[in-house]
Amino acid sequence: MTERTLEWGQTPWDSLSREELLREVQRYYAALTETASVLKQQRDADGGAPFWSIACGGSGGMALAVAESVLKRVDTDDRQRESTFRAFFRYAYELLFPDVPHRTRWAMCDTCGRMIGHPESRVGLACGSVTGAPCSGTMRAITWDDLAPKLEARADRWNIGFDDVARLPPGLEKAAQWLEYALGWPGEHHKQWFMERALEALEVDLAPLAEELRELGSGTVDGDAWRPGIAP
Ligand SMILES: [Zn+2]
Repeated sequence: MTERTLEWGQTPWDSLSREELLREVQRYYAALTETASVLKQQRDADGGAPFWSIACGGSGGMALAVAESVLKRVDTDDRQRESTFRAFFRYAYELLFPDVPHRTRWAMCDTCGRMIGHPESRVGLACGSVTGAPCSGTMRAITWDDLAPKLEARADRWNIGFDDVARLPPGLEKAAQWLEYALGWPGEHHKQWFMERALEALEVDLAPLAEELRELGSGTVDGDAWRPGIAP
């Protein structure tokens, strides 16, 4: 943002594009969440000090009240705040605040799609040495593209290829993409293969699940052994 003297009625954000404004909102939300969390810890440690009392006009209490007033417009409770954090802000912190030292640095492998967070940057290292996976890829820094919603791709299920889906980090988006394939692909064993990938994307352990299905006498069981789906 350029430094200039504002005229009456102007604000520093008036000439920003929608994208620039959105990033600013994300920065403010992230900074305010951290600030409110620290203020709450301090308030709880201080007990009933007048500084934290709104009735006494305490500036700590007032600061926390205005912070919570803003944050509640996004998340109604701490549980929702946690899911907002996990959906985006956990990974976006180092992109939103490039000038701040971070507790977790994220790196991504384009070959296998694994994403890993570590206190020290893993960028430039061999994927196998970082993730322990049998992968020959190299870790790179995450970008805004990695965090972009994939809604358009989901709308057209044939628009995003297997490799693209495999590269997504584990989570709901990846599972939804595999399920899109499962719903549209002919052949029961192929559908099953996609569903297994969806469960893996949700980090479900398939072995105990296969055991449960075996006990149910599932038709996908061959004799006593679980028969995995067939890749299309
Ligand atoms: Zn890899």
